[in-house]
Amino acid sequence: MRYTKYFMPTYKEVPAEAEVISHQLMLRAGMIRKLTSGIYTYLPAGLKSLKKVENIIREEMNRAGAVEVLMPAVQPAELWQESGRWEFYGRELLRFKDRHNREACLGPTHEEVITDLVRKEIRSYKQMPINFYQIQTKFRDEIRPRFGLMRGREFVMKDAYSFDMDEDHANKSYEAMNRAYFRIFRRCGLRFRAVEADTGTIGGSYSHEFMVLAETGEDEIINCTMCDYAANLERAEVTSPDIPPDLKDTVLEPAAEVSTPDIKTVEEVAAFLSIRPEGLIKTLIFVADGEVVAALVRGDHEVNEAKLRRFLGAQTLELADAGLVADKTGAPIGFAGPIGLKMRVVADNAIKVMKNFVVGGNRKDFHIKDANLDRDFKVNEFGDIRIITARDTCPRCGGQVAFKRGIEVGHIFKLGTKYSKALKAMFLDEEGKERPIIMGCYGIGVGRTVAAAIEQNHDKNGIIFPIPIAPFEVTILPLQMHEPLVAQAAEAIYNELLDNNIDVILDDRDERAGVKFNDADLIGIPVRVTIGLRGVKEGLAEMRLRSESESINIPLKNAPAVIMEKVKLLYDSLE
Ligand code: ATP
Ligand code: MG
Repeated sequence: MRYTKYFMPTYKEVPAEAEVISHQLMLRAGMIRKLTSGIYTYLPAGLKSLKKVENIIREEMNRAGAVEVLMPAVQPAELWQESGRWEFYGRELLRFKDRHNREACLGPTHEEVITDLVRKEIRSYKQMPINFYQIQTKFRDEIRPRFGLMRGREFVMKDAYSFDMDEDHANKSYEAMNRAYFRIFRRCGLRFRAVEADTGTIGGSYSHEFMVLAETGEDEIINCTMCDYAANLERAEVTSPDIPPDLKDTVLEPAAEVSTPDIKTVEEVAAFLSIRPEGLIKTLIFVADGEVVAALVRGDHEVNEAKLRRFLGAQTLELADAGLVADKTGAPIGFAGPIGLKMRVVADNAIKVMKNFVVGGNRKDFHIKDANLDRDFKVNEFGDIRIITARDTCPRCGGQVAFKRGIEVGHIFKLGTKYSKALKAMFLDEEGKERPIIMGCYGIGVGRTVAAAIEQNHDKNGIIFPIPIAPFEVTILPLQMHEPLVAQAAEAIYNELLDNNIDVILDDRDERAGVKFNDADLIGIPVRVTIGLRGVKEGLAEMRLRSESESINIPLKNAPAVIMEKVKLLYDSLE
């Protein structure tokens, strides 16, 4: 590609509309342009990166035995009513009516559509296992579309769906996708972790998320420093025995009300009563599928809403608003406590061992100290409902846990029979008995992967693309295009690289050297070859990797061979 024939409109200023670095750099490097909130046009360079990710995904899906299809973006409401998600999916689902007043939506995911296809086409165990995938545009009306391609409303996803006759085969399909995902993200040149995850609105029983590690990531993940346990924070189990040292073996004191005027938060109450936050219990009022529930956690702990929702077996969970809290506890937010509460009370396991603790008084400006379990109030159920902390240990091996930030680029689920039962996707087994098909589903955000790669790999000058997903592998940068010697040398290398299928761009613009260098750095092309008049006269070109600060001189004569060797090395270093 010649720069002068290409379209890569770069700019220097940090765009005000972009908060995160990948969004800023994709705009500045001329990769994307916004049409409207969460909806982008991919400019040529952005599209190239996207396509490179798609190709890697396609190769690995094919290798894993999945078969490609392409499903429609528009999906009829009836299918979603059959699965029950028309009600449940909420406002992220963009719904509309056609001219015949028939309701439809733009697909945010395709479990319903693929299950409809399969129930009509797959009848026998002999037709399975089968795994269908597509690379297709999704629409989700996100509340807060932001960060460019990271959280768009319209975005490209690879989604795959496996169909199996029993659990054993379904587990094998899941493992095959797990392996394919490892290969995909490794081949994209990314540092990532696969973590145990919650199943959210897709449903199902078991899932892993693939997280690209980046300090700017929205998600927090933990991993064990001793074994290979890793989970996102929503999911991470807490099994550590939790005994606050100074609360051991104390005699039970009588409970007493204390005045805490306008003192509400754990920190305020702890400071006011000269105790540590560990000596307090927080009482949070939630609404779970319409039922009001109290959740208790120790003062220094946080409720994990995903775990609590699962523990309660609820589809939806929300914190109660101030009005409901006042109505149910008799006090404003900040003074709720378990004593005398008339509702289901669930408590975190850490609370079992607490004695003589402080709770809200269910009365404005009052707390109760030296409260005690059973004697003063009843807990209906104990469970693991809190967020893991650095003081907790690995639930598998007891090792120390480390916290990291990541960006979710892929998600794999065991779905079980949730959709096949709802949509009656049945098959005949070896005995001729009809059974529901066992499903799995597997997504990758293609645009988000490009954005995450940038979030992980950049410096103050711009993007440092891993070579497999860079818009170009090599840039040839002649310093004086008007000098025939320079132009000839540059053209010769350019053509030879093209002949050898190297993805190369020749910066044939009549621009100052500084402008060309800055653009090459901004766009993040992994290998840069500079050709200047002085060098040409000495028979030399200069080669620099975007990831390194030093450049080396290479003989013009065999420059193409040296460059190709370098490109190969960059790929090999990812295997
Ligand atoms: P998130 O929690 O980030 O909203 P999700 O759990 O809703 O993600 P899935 O339904 O598992 O996502 O979708 C599969 C993949 O699609 C995700 O792993 C992510 O890479 C990508 N993805 C999801 N939502 C978006 C979005 N709004 N913009 C871009 N990519 C997305
Ligand atoms: Mg989402």
